[in-house]
Amino acid sequence: MPKRIMISCPNCHTQFPGEIDQTIDAGSEPALKARLLSGNLNVQRCPNCGAAFQVGAPLLYHDGSKDLLISYAPVELGMNKDQQEKAIGDLMRELTGRLPKEQIKGYFFQPRTALTMQGLVETILQGDGVTQEMMAEQRARVELIEQFLSTPPELRESVIEQNDAKIDIEFMQTLSLMGQRLAAEGHADIAEQLAMLQLILLEHSTFGRQLAQQAEAQEATVREVAADIQKLGAAAGREDFLELVQGYMGSEERLQALVGLARPAFDYQFFQALTMQIGQAPEAERAGLEDLRDTLLELTQKVDQQTQVAMEEAVQLLQVLIDAPDPAPLIAENLPFFDEAFLSVLQANLEAAQQRGNIEVSAKLRTIYEQVMSALRDNMSPELKAINGLMAAENEDAARELAAEAAQQYGRDLLPMIDAVQEMMAVRGEPQVAERLGMLRGMVEAALPPA
Ligand SMILES: [Zn+2]
Repeated sequence: MPKRIMISCPNCHTQFPGEIDQTIDAGSEPALKARLLSGNLNVQRCPNCGAAFQVGAPLLYHDGSKDLLISYAPVELGMNKDQQEKAIGDLMRELTGRLPKEQIKGYFFQPRTALTMQGLVETILQGDGVTQEMMAEQRARVELIEQFLSTPPELRESVIEQNDAKIDIEFMQTLSLMGQRLAAEGHADIAEQLAMLQLILLEHSTFGRQLAQQAEAQEATVREVAADIQKLGAAAGREDFLELVQGYMGSEERLQALVGLARPAFDYQFFQALTMQIGQAPEAERAGLEDLRDTLLELTQKVDQQTQVAMEEAVQLLQVLIDAPDPAPLIAENLPFFDEAFLSVLQANLEAAQQRGNIEVSAKLRTIYEQVMSALRDNMSPELKAINGLMAAENEDAARELAAEAAQQYGRDLLPMIDAVQEMMAVRGEPQVAERLGMLRGMVEAALPPA
């Protein structure tokens, strides 16, 4: 349960109300555990000066699946032994009060004590099966990132070459997680440096070049498959997709792209139809078709899991924004994370809050929604803004007028952009929007000066 307290900014000494968490039950609050491990637990942003800082407070961590209970009282709070015992005792009462009775076992009477935050995190990680060796490797990765960052640009390539063998998938993951975390904490400048470093590594390390090649090949496949889907048209049915997957048989890359782009086409009825076709197929073709069905089932499951993860991440991000006294600076720093998953989570939460009649929460969510949308609009290229404006036109005449303006301002370059948006809409299963874009494209083209 988060606790509302007055927080004092260490930078400008402004006092403001905020919420902090002091008891963390890993089983029921995995998001809190993740925040603790990533150093983001109880991170607050000062509404006055914008400084982000971690509020130090006694903590009690519980993981019932590992019989693990750890208490931690930060030394910087300067509590004596009695004060510490009282604080931990209070947290213990709060935790045991909300856990089911059968979860309270012997180890509750002897919590382990962590002396430092680092110690707390390491004990939790050890409980999760992360070894000292793995932690040392992780520290080495972070040190290498710091080394890259502090290397002058003209020496960077040679330093990367010297460390080429250390640059692997774990290293790249560490780099991108670090960037996300720094951005969320308000260190946009360092996050940007890390993004730059990522680009340099993609170009100058062996592993990076492999990644870049794979990504390029993948993109080409996705484009090819998207074109095939578009050829099917807005009226594409189950039969068309059955034919398409058989054309892709043996190419897992293409099947993967297809399921990723058109997941809704692979519903229960589709698999039923495929099963029926397997039953009717000549003996010699059956094994191949069965493999195809297994592959498609696996791929749809994978897509659904990814959607699930994306949703969970979106929920976490939304929570951070709700908790923030002023979400605006956080919104500006997290633009890349405001994707479809985030917007649908936000929409769902807003509707739920309105239904519950929770005016405070729904007002806050509405503000977040408006700020996110306006930040996304501001971040759009002028051409995309123009296309957006065209789509929002109230009637044909207004659309024709806007099309003429856009044609004059951006010229022929606007056409491939409209095509791209149209393709995206078609693939997303919005045939009406795609059709309307086709019509708007016609208006822009008609208004262009002759080539
Ligand atoms: Zn401040």
